[in-house]
Amino acid sequence: MAKPPKRRIRSVCVYCGSSGRGPARHRRDAVAFGRALAAARIELVYGGGHVGLMGLMADAALSAGGRVIGVIPADLIKKEVGYGKVTRLVVTKSMHSRKMAMFKRSDAFVVLPGGPGTLDEFFEVLTWRQLRFHDKPIVLVESHGYWTPLIDLIEWIIRHGYARASFRNLFKIVRTVDDVLPALRAAPRPRVKSQPKRL
Ligand code: AMP
Repeated sequence: MAKPPKRRIRSVCVYCGSSGRGPARHRRDAVAFGRALAAARIELVYGGGHVGLMGLMADAALSAGGRVIGVIPADLIKKEVGYGKVTRLVVTKSMHSRKMAMFKRSDAFVVLPGGPGTLDEFFEVLTWRQLRFHDKPIVLVESHGYWTPLIDLIEWIIRHGYARASFRNLFKIVRTVDDVLPALRAAPRPRVKSQPKRL
């Protein structure tokens, strides 16, 4: 049988807070990860705003010479949060088409601290993976314990039978932003061809 193609990570989609009012260590993590992506010559795909952790991360990647693709719905640009300095700003008609554009452009997904929007994006790519619409790696960065309640919630859901134990295998938990790129490089070869048309 032919071996599945080797997984190459050229672009990473990062979900993180549109607010920067959380702990300073989260801001440091966003900056460090933006720089790490640029240093590894991996394109950053993100929500296109110049606000909160998103803006800090995009700035850090750009200042380090990285490629940054912002994907933002036209409505949000009007509210002035679109970031003009990115390498490319992709403007979509709706929030839905925006999430799809971010999904298609990215070889992997990384979750940093954030709020409801970040959670929505995380669960969306996770449930798409559960349905085998794709098997791109998804990495949740614990970030000093910030996501512990989320990890506990997932365990609680599994314990009650609303998700299978194998749900845990759909994403990888890492402790710090430094652990993300090694985790992505170690991700198994893809076994499912991405099928955005089925979404
Ligand atoms: P939240 O975690 O609720 O702050 O939402 C952040 C996530 O939702 C990001 O990963 C973005 O993709 C998206 N998002 C929310 N608010 C904005 C915004 N003002 N500009 C761009 N993207 C946003």
